[in-house]
Amino acid sequence: MDIARSPPIIRRKLRLESLQNMKRKAVALLSGGLDSMLAVRLLLDQGIPVAAIRFITHFGCDPVSAGSCGHDVEPLVKLWGHLGLEVKMAHLGQEYIEMVKNPPHGRGKNMNPCVDCRIMMLDWSREFMDRHEGGFLVTGEVLNQRPMSQTLARFHEIDNQLGLKGRVLRPLSAKLLPPTIPEIEGLVDRSRLLDISGRGRTRQYELARRWGIEDVPQPSGGCLLTDPGYSARLRDLWDHDPDGEVRDLNFLRVGRHFRASERCKIIVGRNERENAMIEAFAAPEDVLVRARDHVGPVTILRGEVDDPAVRQAAMLTARYADIPDGDFLIAVTAGPKGGASRTLFVTPAEDETFRPMRVGLR
Ligand code: SF4
Repeated sequence: MDIARSPPIIRRKLRLESLQNMKRKAVALLSGGLDSMLAVRLLLDQGIPVAAIRFITHFGCDPVSAGSCGHDVEPLVKLWGHLGLEVKMAHLGQEYIEMVKNPPHGRGKNMNPCVDCRIMMLDWSREFMDRHEGGFLVTGEVLNQRPMSQTLARFHEIDNQLGLKGRVLRPLSAKLLPPTIPEIEGLVDRSRLLDISGRGRTRQYELARRWGIEDVPQPSGGCLLTDPGYSARLRDLWDHDPDGEVRDLNFLRVGRHFRASERCKIIVGRNERENAMIEAFAAPEDVLVRARDHVGPVTILRGEVDDPAVRQAAMLTARYADIPDGDFLIAVTAGPKGGASRTLFVTPAEDETFRPMRVGLR
C-alpha cells in the first residue's frame, strides 16, 4: 500500500502502527547460556521481534572457543537455530582490554570486572538498538544470581548510568523488578514474564524441558577473568609489561607459565593442541625449544631472551618430555620459528627448583 496516497486517517493509523512495531523490537544480549536463551524465548512467545547480539572479547570469548561469560559455542549455535534467531557478533577489542586494566567499579574475586563489563556491553547494545530502531534491551540476568553485578541496586545503577532507566527488560526476574517502559506501555505482557531469583537453576531447567531445548549449556562460572590461574597470569603480564600486546593475551590461555626474569617468560605446552597453538602464536623474535629425540612439549621463550633463560627452558622441556628411565642428559633444540636452531644437553628440571618461577598454576 502506498502510504503517501492513503487518506489522512489511514496514514495516521499506519504511522502509529509502524511506531508501535518499532518500539516493540527488542535487542537481546546473548551470553550464550541458558538464561539469555530463555529470556529471548519469553519474548518471542509474545510475538515480539528480537535482534540478538553476542559479545566477543580477548578473555575467553572468541567465536571458536567460548561465548561471553565462558560458555561453549557449539551447543549455542543449535540453540540459536532452535529459536530461529539471527545473532550479530560484536568484538569488544582494545577498549575492553583498557577497561579490564582499570575497571572503575572494581573487580570480583579475580580479575573479572563484571559491573563495568555489563556497562560496556549494554552501552554498545544501546547504540545497536538506536541504529536498528529497537525499543528496548533484553538480558538473561537473574536477580541475585551474581553478587557483584546482578543485584537490584546494581541493575538500577547500571541502567541509570547509561540513561537506560526503564529500557532494560530482564524477563526471568521481571516480576520482582519495577515495571519497565515496554511493560507499562503494554508492548510486553508482564503477567507472562517470570519471578526467578538466586543461583538455583531448577526453574530454568524446567522451562528448557518444556520448550524442548536439548543440549542445555552447563552453567558457567564466568569468562577467563573469573579463573584464578588465568587471573594470576594476566596480573603477572601487566605487572611486567603493562602494554603487553594481544599476542601476549593469547599465550595466557595455553601452557604452563614460568617467569625467567623481569623481561622474559617461558611457556611450556601441555598437549598436542597447546603445542600447535604455541607454534601458531610464536613471533619471529621468540625462541622455540623442543626435545630433539623425544616426544614432548613445544616450549617458547618470550621477551628479552638470554642464555640462562634458554637453559631453563630446555630443562623444563626435558622435564615434561617422554623420557625413558635412565636417560639423564637430554638433547634439546632452541631457535626461532622456521630458523636455525642450536642443540643443548640438559638434565630435566626439578620441580622444587622451578616452582617459585611458576605463574598461575594450571
Ligand atoms: S564473567 Fe563478568 S567479566 Fe566475564 S564476561 Fe561475564 S560479566 Fe563480563
